[in-house]
Amino acid sequence: MNDANHLLSWYKRHGRHLPWRNTRDPYRILVSEIMLQQTQVSRVLDFYRAWLKQFPNWKVLAEAKNAEVIRAWSGLGYNRRARMLRDIARTIITTNTRPKTAAEWLPLKGIGPYTANAIACFAFHEMVFPIDTNTRRVAGRLLLGRAFPTMKDDERIQKKASTWQKQSAQFYDIPQAMFDLANAACTKVPDCKTCPMRSTCKAAPKFLKGHVRIPKRTTPAPKERLYEGKRYPDRIYRGRIVKILHEQPKGISIKQVGTFIDKTFNKNLDIVWLKNMLQRLKKDDLISVEKDSIFLSKR
Ligand code: SF4
Repeated sequence: MNDANHLLSWYKRHGRHLPWRNTRDPYRILVSEIMLQQTQVSRVLDFYRAWLKQFPNWKVLAEAKNAEVIRAWSGLGYNRRARMLRDIARTIITTNTRPKTAAEWLPLKGIGPYTANAIACFAFHEMVFPIDTNTRRVAGRLLLGRAFPTMKDDERIQKKASTWQKQSAQFYDIPQAMFDLANAACTKVPDCKTCPMRSTCKAAPKFLKGHVRIPKRTTPAPKERLYEGKRYPDRIYRGRIVKILHEQPKGISIKQVGTFIDKTFNKNLDIVWLKNMLQRLKKDDLISVEKDSIFLSKR
């Protein structure tokens, strides 16, 4: 059995049963991929099911208003993703196009190289390899012998992974198998002794002999902007505003919202900070402002 099939046979026995793995519907796969960006699988599962119940296809989602999609997304974080997903659905419906290949997905706003490759691979079985943190780590170790691969290795990983995919008829499941291996054994500090790929993995000897120094960080810390010396980045306060508006459909006055999102809110010192943040939310179409009150965007 070749190495690719060896990994796939492990995946068949030990892989996670996830609802987006039972479908080739590009809509469902895109929903899962967008939800999984920066969010853990366990957290996504309930949101994924509820979303599909409310917005079962491109058409229904394309017709949804901002407030509806933001409400359905509320709790997952990074609310802009909800609007972006709805906008992709609108593009697909209004242009009456149905992208299939990675090259056709890539021009859509909000779709990056990883997502384009993931939908093309999982939904249409195009032989492309989606590289994210997990597949980079596993493929970089397994195929290149790099203990802590970085984005600089992506081109080489892409080439090696394509060769690997050609070894198997189920090539489209290889990235899924790598996601699970990244979760089960090939974590930041890998457990090579229990890994099904240890006998052929190019990086395993380094780890097993203890020849690897574990770096403090393997990916750069996300750059998050702190405004006006506030304790958390903007995204945390923005999420809180959207959550309050979700709970208060009749809206809330600007005066009230400050203390809701920040216990230390000072109405004299922090009002500029708050108004600037509301402007950014408005610009992103997540809220609307009427006189002195704010609401979830009605568009
Ligand atoms: S043998 Fe170790 S480094 Fe290689 S894939 Fe398995 S866990 Fe990762």
